[in-house]
Amino acid sequence: MAYIEVIKETREFQNGNQRTVANRDLSFEVAQGSVVTILGPSGAGKSTLLNILGGMDTPTSGQVLIDGEDIAQFSAKQLTTYRRQAVGFVFQFYNLVPNLTARENVELASQITKDARDVDETLKLVGLTARAGNFPAQLSGGEQQRVAIARAVAKNPKLLLCDEPTGALDYRTGKQVLQVIQAAARETQTTVIIVTHNSAIAKLGDQVIRINDAQVQSIVHNDHPTPIE
Ligand code: ADP
Ligand code: ADP
Repeated sequence: MAYIEVIKETREFQNGNQRTVANRDLSFEVAQGSVVTILGPSGAGKSTLLNILGGMDTPTSGQVLIDGEDIAQFSAKQLTTYRRQAVGFVFQFYNLVPNLTARENVELASQITKDARDVDETLKLVGLTARAGNFPAQLSGGEQQRVAIARAVAKNPKLLLCDEPTGALDYRTGKQVLQVIQAAARETQTTVIIVTHNSAIAKLGDQVIRINDAQVQSIVHNDHPTPIE
């Protein structure tokens, strides 16, 4: 069984007398432990989909099965539990606490989680052991993003959602960050969804879902994802 199964997911927004269909009948499946990229231009509906997968929003219709459970039917309370226990988030602008070191930023996340991963092991996983005592301002953009990935992974999430994680980085650094996300996913069997508008970054995924104008335009499975040098 697929870890994620989205079936005809639709999200409409109604503002006054203006109706926007942000997601229209989206259907796709994601295998556990795979890295999926969602590619599409601005306004295509990517953030709406990510918010729904993360339990921050609920579709107007359709099913969103996560490990066999339809989160589209969850109450607000169930969604909060789902968000806290099952989902890790990585954003474009890192959102690190500036007056805490890299290690302390990761510790903070692990302290509020029951089944947290070991902090030092997680820092090692993202290649940051040597920089663990640095504050965010003393780290490069790529390093700050690796702290943010470690913070998300320390929570031991089933699902890691990344919103333009390479958006603030140059292509080379972005590729390295993608590689860190992929290695962490393989090591921890975490399913990863990455939203991007960068097609060069998107094609590094195991599966590329292209969204345009609220709909799935194509799904490409990469049996041999483009190797990252
Ligand atoms: P993307 O992330 O691909 O840029 P979004 O999911 O943010 O796209 O937006 C898709 C469409 O839905 C856009 O037309 C956007 O204006 C609209 N939309 C998103 N959120 C809301 C909202 N809360 N209220 C009304 N319209 C929204
Ligand atoms: P808390 O306030 O205790 O962190 P929440 O339910 O607000 O609990 O958040 C649970 C998780 O969801 C956190 O990891 C948080 O970072 C993430 N989260 C909450 N709201 C958003 C949002 N709008 N966008 C992205 N991530 C969010």
